Amino acid sequence: MRFRILIALAFLAPAALAEGLPDLGEASRSDLPPYLERRIGESIMRDIRLREPSYIDDVEVTVYLNALGGRLSAAMPEAGQSFEFFALRDATLNAFALPGGYIGVHSGLIQAAQSESELAGVLSHEIAHVTQKHLARLMGKQNQAQMTQWLAMAVAILAARSNSGVSQAAMTAGAAAGVQTMLNYTRDFEREADRIGIQTLERAGFDVRGMASFFERMQKFGRLYENNAPGYLRTHPLTVERISDMENRVLQAQYRQVADSLEFQLVRSKLRAGLGDPRDAAVDFETQLRERKYLSETAARYGLAVAQLRMKNFPAAEREVAGLRRLKATSPMVDTLAADLRRAQGDLPGALKIYREARLRHARNKALLYGQIDALLADGQAQEALKTASAELQLTPSDANLHGLQARSYAELDKRLQQHRAQAELYVLQGQLVPAIQQLELAQKAGDGDYYEHSQVDARLRELRARHLEEMKQKMPF
Ligand SMILES: [Zn+2]
Repeated sequence: MRFRILIALAFLAPAALAEGLPDLGEASRSDLPPYLERRIGESIMRDIRLREPSYIDDVEVTVYLNALGGRLSAAMPEAGQSFEFFALRDATLNAFALPGGYIGVHSGLIQAAQSESELAGVLSHEIAHVTQKHLARLMGKQNQAQMTQWLAMAVAILAARSNSGVSQAAMTAGAAAGVQTMLNYTRDFEREADRIGIQTLERAGFDVRGMASFFERMQKFGRLYENNAPGYLRTHPLTVERISDMENRVLQAQYRQVADSLEFQLVRSKLRAGLGDPRDAAVDFETQLRERKYLSETAARYGLAVAQLRMKNFPAAEREVAGLRRLKATSPMVDTLAADLRRAQGDLPGALKIYREARLRHARNKALLYGQIDALLADGQAQEALKTASAELQLTPSDANLHGLQARSYAELDKRLQQHRAQAELYVLQGQLVPAIQQLELAQKAGDGDYYEHSQVDARLRELRARHLEEMKQKMPF
């Protein structure tokens, strides 16, 4: 929560200053309008993807969270908006909703969840904050004087971020305290998010007990560490009434035993093995396997293999992958790991064979797709890489990664115009219009390409310049 608002304010600040006095217009008089909320959210998300070091840029984790979150928001048809879920590398138990339907989850919370229903419970609660417009209502309620004060703090923070000589900690702490007070969700909002969250969980087919049990465990944890309560409890104050409210609702619900998906278990193992010291993780997984104390043997072996791979202990990792095959683990995550392991040992043909076979079974899996194209490029098969990337782009034209892989393929094939054109589309999707325009200007001067390709570049360049001009005119920082 704190993290979110600081970034939001950092983006609001420059435009407000440019105009002398900050004037938030209708946003200061009523609820934040949806289009403005979306734009603020998009700009924060862009900042997180490009600059936030704790952002977990892992396609398997992201795809999993979006599948789970998508299942929940689909159970809430009245939501009427899209959501995007992402993970941050942070050991604290926290999750938060940004403006515009972006929902972040700390890796610590994913690992602390003891069942998929528990994780789904926290996501449902956050989704409800968004669908009930809690954030827009809070942000819209602020008066001009309060907003001015926060903008000033945001500028100070922004300056501190770009100037390491300034004591960032001192200013951030002061600013954060003010922001925290303003944005702690009110008890009514919390109760509403719990109520709607439980409904969503039930409709999506999860065990509604997951919500109450997880919140209860978090509260116990919070009591043990009075001064350092899990972040979630500070931003979503958890009261005794809230817990008993949840328990009452849960009592009315039908009992339902819900099995965790294999992906939930594998993602938790991947985070455990992939963050922090791999030796600690390896010891943990080895102990689990020796004592047969695991929720899933597949997930324990998978986690051990990831840790061994990180330690470059290849024979041990191969042994675990062989074990996973014997367990008939059919997840594409196992195939991706097996291919990564081959590549780490310099066996490109072996990796390519795994990708080829696995993609016959899991044609739509993004990690396998990106891995295959990357391996083709490393193997000098740029034409084949280009063919694969271009075919997939027909199906998912807004996949930024694929545009990047396509640009790399064109570069290998020495097709300059097309390389810059693909790179421009990658920047457009990342919300970076200026570098996109620069790439198209490079494409014009590339000295290759036919008449048809050049006219396409010219048309796209005109379009992006007009869009950029429009954004400048609006003086919107986001
Ligand atoms: Zn909340």
